[in-house]
Amino acid sequence: MNAPASLKGLTDFDPLTARRDFQILSREVYGKPLAYLDSAASAQKPRQVLDAMRAFATGEYANVHRGVHFLSAASTERYEQARETVRRFLNAGEPSEIVFTKGGTEAINLVASSYLARKIEQGDEIVLTVMEHHSNIVPWHFLRERAGAVLTWVDVRDDGSLDVEALDAAIGAKTKFVAVSHMSNVLGTVTPLKEIVARAHKKGVPVLADGCQGAVHLSIDVRELDIDFYAFTGHKLYGPTGIGALYAKRAHLKAMRPFNGGGEMIGEVTRERITYAEPPARFEAGTPPIIEAVGLAAAIDYLGGFDRAQIAVHEHDLLDYAAKQVKSLNWCRIIGEANGKGAILSFEAEGMHAHDLATILDREGVAVRAGHHCAQVLMERFHVASTARASFALYNTRADVDQFVAALHKARKILG
Ligand SMILES: *Cc1c(COP(=O)(O)O)cnc(C)c1O
Repeated sequence: MNAPASLKGLTDFDPLTARRDFQILSREVYGKPLAYLDSAASAQKPRQVLDAMRAFATGEYANVHRGVHFLSAASTERYEQARETVRRFLNAGEPSEIVFTKGGTEAINLVASSYLARKIEQGDEIVLTVMEHHSNIVPWHFLRERAGAVLTWVDVRDDGSLDVEALDAAIGAKTKFVAVSHMSNVLGTVTPLKEIVARAHKKGVPVLADGCQGAVHLSIDVRELDIDFYAFTGHKLYGPTGIGALYAKRAHLKAMRPFNGGGEMIGEVTRERITYAEPPARFEAGTPPIIEAVGLAAAIDYLGGFDRAQIAVHEHDLLDYAAKQVKSLNWCRIIGEANGKGAILSFEAEGMHAHDLATILDREGVAVRAGHHCAQVLMERFHVASTARASFALYNTRADVDQFVAALHKARKILG
């Protein structure tokens, strides 16, 4: 008989073993052990990723797609294998539905400029939630400024959960697009993507998910979701910076205009005219982040070496363990307590500016983020200027949480 997932997680996934893959976690800061609780901003990279990038750069590297020589062919093969790895990770139908970008931000901008811009007429609506990251707000503001689109905002409840009925109600006759976070980088809220997509599609409206957090903590099946666009970034997924990916349904990609112009994205260029390459090459102008693509594939393979459901159980254990203690402090207020939320803990501490608090925690070796987290609309919704945020990854332990809570008490003594 199978043990329940919760028990399995506690018995099988060992963060201490995983931690050995992350050399940086064993360093000290200010003479204190490092408790790295800022993985939602960027995750640390395991040796397997760094080794894969180094081995590729020292053994097989050349520019892709254009050379006939040995290394160029080898490099091209690795780059295209990386695309296949991303395809598998998202369970997309074809590798050509995966476009490499320089991150999540660029992936969303690509959709805004190449897909949606020319469909927008004055007064057309784009539905967003108030918990979006600026990366999933600003590109749509561009369409408001430049083409007269109207941004329609869906609120979250006080606990941070998304009201799907409200979202459904916001999708009207003028709605051209829905863009929602899969998992909030501030609240940790996980949105019911499948249901959102089903409701939007019923009204003929395509959906983009910002998966920059979702891809790290949840399993994704873009075909099962039937989602139109899914964007994510490498550096939060234990991969390198400078790489991300956009999944888009093939029919959408075929209908999309190029974003950047340059080498590799053309069919033919003459003095009078150009034709464009088929997707995904059409959207990958210039030399792509080749070494980073290999690193991203290594990161996905690294994650794939674990049972991801067990990682999730472990991360939730840390979240619960931390949330319980923070909650018991009557001078702290947690923001975001939706059911099923991911391992992100945002909070306010009475009488302390989040930056001052984070500075004191830092001196205790505890890395948390303080600020608006690129989510000013959400800050406004919760009437706060900023929050402190601890975020948990597979390599964190209860000892990290203990260090964090002890540092919180110290901050209270100093600032409270
Ligand atoms: C980090 C993040 C982004 C932006 O990703 P980049 O890698 O900086 O491009 C977008 N959305 C969410 C929810 C994020 O957490």
